[in-house]
This record gives sequence, C-alpha cells and structure tokens, in this order.
Amino acid sequence: MNHVKHLKCLICGKEYQPDEIDYVCPDHGNEGIVDVVYDYDVVARNISPDSLKDNDDFTIWRYRPLLPIEPDSPVPPLAVGWTPMYEAPRLAEGLGLKHVWVKDDGRNPTASFKDRASAIAVVKAQEKGAEIITTASTGNAAAALSGLCASVEQPNVIFVPKSAPPAKIAQLLTFGSTVMLVDGTYDDAFELCLEAADEFGWYNRNTGFNPYMSEGKKTVSFEICEQLGLALNGDAGRQSNGWQAPDVIFVSVGDGCIIGGVHKGLRDLLALGWIDKMPRIIGVQAAGSNFMAEAWENGEDVLTKAPISADTVADSISAGLPRDRIKAMAAVTETDGAYVTVSDDEILAAIPALARGSGVFAEPAGATAYAGLVKAVELGLVSADERIVVINTGNGLKDVASAMTAVKLVGTEPYNVKPSLEEVKKVVASLQE
Ligand SMILES: *Cc1c(COP(=O)(O)O)cnc(C)c1O
Ligand SMILES: [Zn+2]
Repeated sequence: MNHVKHLKCLICGKEYQPDEIDYVCPDHGNEGIVDVVYDYDVVARNISPDSLKDNDDFTIWRYRPLLPIEPDSPVPPLAVGWTPMYEAPRLAEGLGLKHVWVKDDGRNPTASFKDRASAIAVVKAQEKGAEIITTASTGNAAAALSGLCASVEQPNVIFVPKSAPPAKIAQLLTFGSTVMLVDGTYDDAFELCLEAADEFGWYNRNTGFNPYMSEGKKTVSFEICEQLGLALNGDAGRQSNGWQAPDVIFVSVGDGCIIGGVHKGLRDLLALGWIDKMPRIIGVQAAGSNFMAEAWENGEDVLTKAPISADTVADSISAGLPRDRIKAMAAVTETDGAYVTVSDDEILAAIPALARGSGVFAEPAGATAYAGLVKAVELGLVSADERIVVINTGNGLKDVASAMTAVKLVGTEPYNVKPSLEEVKKVVASLQE
C-alpha cells in the first residue's frame, strides 16, 4: 500500500506502518484508535475526477486508489455503495428550505450503511489470511459483515445483544453466520467480542477499534460530492472542476464511526482539491443516547467522560460509550458543525414524514437524521438557501415494529373491510365527507 503513508494515533500522535500494528495504538489499550494517513501525491496519480468520468464501476470500488487496500486484492461481489441521492423539494418546502437531498443508504446489499465498512473488513481480513472474522454490533454491522462474508464464503462469528430487532437477527442466521446472542447491552457484546477475538485470533471488524472501518464509510462523502456535482452541473459535473460539496450534511450518531467517516472523506477531497470547501457536519443523537451531544455542549473530554446508560427506540444508535468518539467529536468541531438531539417521539414521527415527503422508508436510526434537520431548522442552525444532504443510514424494513408504532403515533390507521364493494363504498363516502 504505497499510497498509505502511515497510521496515526489520535491520542498521542505516534505514527506506525500498516504492518506494525494490527488495530489500535498499543500505548492506550483498546482506546488508541488510529487514522489512516495517505500520500495524496500517489493517490492523485491513480485517480481524478477526470479518470472517474470514464469509470463504469458504480460501487465503492470506483474510489479504490483512495481506499486502504492492496491494488490487486480481490473484492467481494456484492454491489456496495453508489446509493441514490434524491432531491426532495417537498421536504425542503415544508421546512422553509430550498435545497434538500436524501442520500438513501438503505439501498445497500444488506440494507444499511454498514455494508461500506464490512466490505473493507472482508478485504483486509483476506489480505491477512484470517480464517474467521468477528464483530459485535447493534445489528446492522453484523448483518453487513454476515452478508459480505456469505458472498465470498468467509466464516464469521457475530455478537449481538439479544434485544436486536428480529429482522436483523434473521439476516445473520439466514446468511449462515455463527451468532452469539448476548444477554446484555451492545456495550457488553462489544467487550465480549474483543476478548474472544484476542483469545482465538479472529480478525476483528469492531467499530472504533479497526482503523479501516471509517475508511469504508468515507466513500459516502465521495458519492455525495460526485452526485451533487452531476445533479447541479449535468455533464459539467463530469469535468475536473464539477464536483460539489453541499453546505451541510446531517447524519445520525451512535458509536460515531459513520460521522467520522463522512468527515474523513471530505478531508480527502479537500486535500486533493476536488472540492473547495468543508461542509458543516451536524451529528444527530437520540435524547436517550446523547453521549456526544452532551460532551460537545459541555466541552467535555470524550476520553475521560464516563459512559452514560443508553436507551432509545433507535437501536442502531444506542451506545453508552461511543467507540469512535474522538473522530466523532472532530467531525463536528473541525467543520463548524453541531450536535443536536431528538426525542424518541420525534424520531418515530420522522419515519412517516420522510417516507411521505420523499418516498424513502427509513429505520428509526435512519429517520433520526431527518428529525435532526427538523430540529436544526427550529434552532436556526441552517438557512434557507443552503444545500443540505440528509443521510438515511438504514432501510425501514429492518424494523417494521417501529414503523407500525410510528404510523399509530401520527394517527394513520388502515380501514378494516369485509371483502365486499359495499364496504369499500362506505369508506370512500366517509372520506368524501
Ligand atoms: C450504525 C448505524 C448508525 C450509527 O453509526 P455509528 O457509526 O455507530 O455512529 C446510524 N444508523 C444506522 C441505521 C446504523 O446502522
Ligand atoms: Zn497512541
């Protein structure tokens, strides 16, 4: 990997060659998360907006020279990334805004954003010749690893809290993973997975531990800026100066790996000169799982702040101690962004609101980003002319029970009819009253 300069510890700044350490900086136990630092001169020799214009690989691998993998490593066949980004004029208008886009990452192979990271995990594990890959997860990272492993027949062991939504557990079992349902929280599952990986020598995909996960997640920012360029400039978006950064990006935050990845992708693009400004990044947390928001508001040090006890309907962002909290804090402070929190009722209400305003069906943690935009408008954090991208991180079919709660909450009921036209006529007549 001559395009990777080194891995840099985010706590002490120490630099390592990629083959010197497995995951974290050894000086800080499991907390010493490192950042992958690139040699952008080497990168720029192998990829540019110009070269991309003739690239018909519409997956994350179109950005391969910007990913921390060997040039000749095989990649899994599932089509991860290049998810659609829809302009949503009705959503915008409803909020007094002009330019809102929804980036629908529920359209990935296993139906969440996590496929971006798990795809990299599979490649890295196979580069190392690992026999087994493992991860702990609130559900989606597990399903993503499980599906990507199935696509290349890679054995894997998954740790999830037994409270994970049934659809996510069904995915794991269907893909044939070895599943450990942990009688505890996600945080318990995480610790257990680290211990097991250590004990058995399994390749560890864990978020906020494996440095390559945010590298997979950063591809969303490449796509956002490339797709926004195409949307705004048409064919000129395919010229070297055609890429466009939005003004603001909204993303939900649990462990903070996604928001850190969003930031990393934008930093890459700015360093390469493909975009000319850094968007503000707004992290959205559930009020019941607000570690980052609280730390940001109070100016607390995320390394010494005590874990909180997390509880929210948005299971994918329930994290008492966000594992990628250093990167998650930098994403907001270094972009002049903000953290906002939303209640579980606001999250649930955002599911039908987003679906009706854009046609995108999100699971609670995905709709959280949209609930955050609504909150940000109330707080005056965005202005009418700004270009705003809301990332939906997970598909609504992942958690049908929450969708049913959400429609009840906003008062949408079906009409129960017997199989007779008379009954339908009665309903139609009542609707016309
Ligand atoms: C994992 C996940 C998130 C949060 O990502 P973090 O990296 O944990 O902050 C948000 N939404 C969905 C659907 C997820 O699966
Ligand atoms: Zn260190």
